[in-house]
Amino acid sequence: MQLQDMPLQNKLLQDELILEQIQIGPMQNFAYLVGSKTTREVVLVDPAWDLDSLLNLVKARDYRLTGALLTHYHPDHCGGSFGHNSVEGVAELLGKNPVKVYVHKLEAAGVKKVTGISDSDIVKVESGDKLSIGEVEVEFLHTPGHTPGSQCFKIRHMLVSGDTLFINGCGRVDLPGSNSEDMYHSLQKLAAMPEDTLLLPGHNYAQLPQATMEETKKINSYMRINDLASWKMMMGA
Ligand SMILES: [Zn+2]
Repeated sequence: MQLQDMPLQNKLLQDELILEQIQIGPMQNFAYLVGSKTTREVVLVDPAWDLDSLLNLVKARDYRLTGALLTHYHPDHCGGSFGHNSVEGVAELLGKNPVKVYVHKLEAAGVKKVTGISDSDIVKVESGDKLSIGEVEVEFLHTPGHTPGSQCFKIRHMLVSGDTLFINGCGRVDLPGSNSEDMYHSLQKLAAMPEDTLLLPGHNYAQLPQATMEETKKINSYMRINDLASWKMMMGA
């Protein structure tokens, strides 16, 4: 009896999850909708570029937006000024649909500076913290390297990875605040996740929009380096 029940239970768990990948803006960014079908509560991951279309999607699906999750403070993920350009992001979101913005504690100052939102809008999180969205739980994983407070989101067997890990590469580590050695350790941590983990990156840079960790390791040479000396040689530092 129990053996027969298990697949059904897995199916119900899967059916409960809302997870939608949305390509948005001119830099092939992916935003995500994550939430619970039972309660219809959702959060937006990295809402930027076109907040009306993201909020219209939430409305069209009859979902209720309860938060925003940021992988890191770069304007193509959270909005803000970008050289001479200005990108829509969490500031516009809060103007249209006020919610808390979940940010790693080391990234909060950068998010405030880039977007202009205030302390009271931000919930600072640490690695291992969890957020319940209805029946669905999101775990925050600190993955520094691209920026000091970059984070990934683990949702069941899925990983929303921002600019830490792409299917065919990793985020740049030659930018202000980047740290190549931190990136090495973050990628080692992600490489140790189960092989069937589904990677959902922050940009559509590969031939596939999503891949398992097993597939990613085959495609991505950064994921196959397992000692720091080789990493430093490859990264030229
Ligand atoms: Zn970035």
